[in-house]
Amino acid sequence: MDKGLLIVLSGPSGVGKGTVCTALRKRKPELIYSISATTRRPRDGEVDGVNYFFKEKEQFLTMIQNNELLEWAEYVGNYYGTPIQFVEDTINAGDDIILEIDVQGALKVKETFPEAVYIFLVPPSIDELKNRIEGRGTETADIIKHRLSMAQEEIELLKHYDYAVVNDKIENACSKIESIIVAEHCKRFRF
Ligand code: 5GP
Repeated sequence: MDKGLLIVLSGPSGVGKGTVCTALRKRKPELIYSISATTRRPRDGEVDGVNYFFKEKEQFLTMIQNNELLEWAEYVGNYYGTPIQFVEDTINAGDDIILEIDVQGALKVKETFPEAVYIFLVPPSIDELKNRIEGRGTETADIIKHRLSMAQEEIELLKHYDYAVVNDKIENACSKIESIIVAEHCKRFRF
């Protein structure tokens, strides 16, 4: 049986990765979504085991020690990581899985899975990104400032990706991602 595709959707904080993933989930329910572990506190409405597996720092460090994470990154004072078992089981079963992770994490995944599909979600402009990070209204001024300066550095890393998708309108971005997935399947087709 052919393996499923590992699709890594990444890009700067505030670019709309989460929103695009939520829209993609509705349009493409057969695509499997990896749930990350994090030490960040849940935001209003976020549910453990749905949005993230929320962990204490000690628990997260144990996961790292036990090699349970495909990659992990410390981002603005919190840890985030991808549980590896679920990713491997999904692609070995022939299903496609999408990881929505930050830029540092995506580059680490590339070391283990160079054959994965790397998609960079690009903001329509830096001003628009600033509006989105500020408009979220869930973070303190310091964190907003930190996220913005990280975003500017992260945009430089676009060159390591296979595809750039501008997130001007969510539905456009989703259509492009769906087209990329179709193209990648066609590219890998073997008798
Ligand atoms: P947020 O706190 O806004 O949910 O996420 C902060 C950043 O962490 C976002 O860029 C998000 O994509 C990223 N992120 C979420 N899960 C993971 C993960 O498992 N690994 C890595 N490296 N980054 C993640």
